[in-house]
Amino acid sequence: MKTSYDFAVIGAGVFGAWTARYLRQSGASVIVLDAYGPGNGRSSSGGETRIIRTGYGGDELYSRWAHRSLPIWREFFARIGRDFFTQTGVLWLADRADSHVSQMPALLGRLGVRCETLSAAEIGYRYPQLIFSDISLGVLEPESGVLLARSAVQALGKDLAESGVEFLTAAALPPRGGGRLAEIKTLAGDAVAAGTFIFACGAWLPKLFPDVLAERIFPTRQDVFFLGPPPGSAAFHVGKMPAWLHHTHPDRPYALPDVDGRGFKIAFDRHGPECDPDHQARLVSADSLQHLKAYLKQHVPSLAEAPVIETRVCQYENTWNGDFLIDRHPGFDNVWLAGGGSGHGFKHGPALGEYLSARVLIGAPQEARFSLASKQTRQLRAVY
Ligand SMILES: Cc1cc2nc3c(=O)[nH]c(=O)nc-3n(C[C@H](O)[C@H](O)[C@H](O)COP(=O)(O)OP(=O)(O)OC[C@H]3O[C@@H](n4cnc5c(N)ncnc54)[C@H](O)[C@@H]3O)c2cc1C
Repeated sequence: MKTSYDFAVIGAGVFGAWTARYLRQSGASVIVLDAYGPGNGRSSSGGETRIIRTGYGGDELYSRWAHRSLPIWREFFARIGRDFFTQTGVLWLADRADSHVSQMPALLGRLGVRCETLSAAEIGYRYPQLIFSDISLGVLEPESGVLLARSAVQALGKDLAESGVEFLTAAALPPRGGGRLAEIKTLAGDAVAAGTFIFACGAWLPKLFPDVLAERIFPTRQDVFFLGPPPGSAAFHVGKMPAWLHHTHPDRPYALPDVDGRGFKIAFDRHGPECDPDHQARLVSADSLQHLKAYLKQHVPSLAEAPVIETRVCQYENTWNGDFLIDRHPGFDNVWLAGGGSGHGFKHGPALGEYLSARVLIGAPQEARFSLASKQTRQLRAVY
């Protein structure tokens, strides 16, 4: 270990890893600390799969970031010779009165993203294994798909290490004092000195900075199910079913086709109960399973009695409305905070790393929506 680094990035999830990558590319010395390691089972980036899609209603900022990020992910996968992207297509399901989905095609068109508008009849014809009597509009992004999240983040970590970034398995303690931070202490009693510190600690940010973030980042527990289709059935394979988001449903269910042999993945995007990312039990609740079964009976009847072959419990790290937090810490001159992925951050890793490194390295202007000042203490989700 060196005596001091240009940058210390705390947190090796997708936000920290992509930020470290861009900082290292500038020639700077970088150390990355993670309490449990890149893509670990407690982190939000440690899930098997994450959807990457460009559609964000009329929200141009996140549409542009997703559009920017996908080719960068793909370039990275091509360079390392391991493809962690599957082009499944992503289908939004809504009714025509839903302005979020109905304004999507115009924005995607402006950005040059291919999309198809489907009627309920076309959706029923193309995907007979799904039943959506409550929708009248579908917007399909055929070129979007699914990232193998944990594998991608771990590959990024390996690539960073090969490019000279140091990794340390260590839990950073909350920094004390104010002004210019010289070093951080770890739980094991070590000290890491750096010119600038970037805390990309996902759902742990409120624990590290309770005075600033306890009421501005809300970690919620999210149950995820993988179901086993009947033997010999290809109905839920890639090519037969896209990833889909049932946007008109109050619980906002979403599902992914069988990628990498894990089965049909389904979860509810509605925020679950508040949770602690270190200690929450990672077993799905019986209520949650019952709720899922009721949904399947109505919308995916052939899987209503399918065996649950795997479950995961992860957490969202929500800001008040879903906008990311990427800003300086108000009490330290050389400390940055990056988080608030709010259930949709994974895809944006490359764009976020590019954005944050440009603020840190050359003082590029900041987007107001990412500022700490914009983060309210109530919850009113607006980004989907
Ligand atoms: C069930 C679920 C489904 C999702 N689906 C999608 C999707 O389809 N598409 C999408 O784009 N996004 C999705 N997301 C959101 C996305 O996964 C997150 O926004 C993103 O992974 C957040 O990354 P992060 O780097 O901020 O946090 P994390 O991945 O949680 O990383 C934070 C890291 O910080 C480390 N850390 C914490 N405290 C310390 C400390 N004191 N010292 C050292 N290290 C520390 C942790 O160990 C962890 O590795 C989903 C999230 C969940 C939970």
